[in-house]
Amino acid sequence: MIDIKVLDNCIGCGACSTLSPEVFEINRNFATINYDKISGHEESCIDAALFCPVGAIKLY
Ligand code: SF4
Repeated sequence: MIDIKVLDNCIGCGACSTLSPEVFEINRNFATINYDKISGHEESCIDAALFCPVGAIKLY
């Protein structure tokens, strides 16, 4: 299973929540993660990390 961290440089653009709506939500212009939804949605999480315009999504 992967783990995800959103770094402080998130600009709240919404790309991650568009690509992986089960896992990512935007709250007050910052992405938050539904950790219990990561399992089974790993590929969309990887897409979100790749498309984040500021590289704020780190996968472990
Ligand atoms: S794609 Fe990146 S910058 Fe945009 S909301 Fe998600 S984590 Fe933040």
